[in-house]
Amino acid sequence: VIRFERVNKWYGAAHVLRDIDLDVAAGERVVICGPSGSGKSTLIRCINALERHQEGRLTVNGTRLDDDDPQAVARVRREVGMVFQQFNLFPHLTVLENLTLAPSTVGGLSRAQAEERALAQLQRVRIAEHAAKYPLQLSGGQQQRVAIARALCLRPRVMLFDEPTSALDPEMIQEVLQVMEELAGQGMTMLCVTHEMGFARAVADRVVFMDQGQIVEQADPATFFGAPRTARAADFLSRIL
Ligand code: ATP
Ligand code: MG
Repeated sequence: VIRFERVNKWYGAAHVLRDIDLDVAAGERVVICGPSGSGKSTLIRCINALERHQEGRLTVNGTRLDDDDPQAVARVRREVGMVFQQFNLFPHLTVLENLTLAPSTVGGLSRAQAEERALAQLQRVRIAEHAAKYPLQLSGGQQQRVAIARALCLRPRVMLFDEPTSALDPEMIQEVLQVMEELAGQGMTMLCVTHEMGFARAVADRVVFMDQGQIVEQADPATFFGAPRTARAADFLSRIL
């Protein structure tokens, strides 16, 4: 459902994605890792056109993102949910309002339909009892689960996660990873930038290792962690494990 073909991106003179070739099939779970500045965030932000690439071909759910077709971007964003390191919830809206906003505006649902869907997603991430609270009244782990529920309210075909647990206190990391693991178990197509290697081992079909804007190697988790092929990956793993 996602295909990068020789995708290149620059920020000014900085070449940050170099000849990226990557295919993700429906239902696949891909973990992306690599050193800081290697282009992981840029790569997944290209998938929902938060960043635009300059060269190569990028296709998401059958939609080409290369030509400047505003409808293509809107369509892809409806089909691709994203969860960030900083939860990016609207602080002045309740949890429920955070979840109903997009479905009732861009999604075309009535208020009642949007609320019904929102409550179902809040139950899915086990946070329905906090629906009437404001984000800042919740813990970081709870806020991140709200952010996941919010993304799910648009019924995405793909979920992107950019270091969803790295802003959390250690005791809250597991509750977020567990929700992500459940989502994976339900067949969601997922791309996760994370350094949580326990999660990668348990959930990923494939680990993609990036360095300096390139995909340096990709393999199933057992192979990648057990016997990385490149010195760069081995060096990275020796520093994070
Ligand atoms: P981290 O692990 O620190 O999150 P990353 O692998 O996600 O790193 P990116 O954020 O994709 O890396 O950044 C890749 C490169 O692009 C880095 O050199 C970064 O400084 C640069 N960069 C990122 N965003 C911008 C921007 N908006 N403008 C200019 N340069 C940027
Ligand atoms: Mg990043």
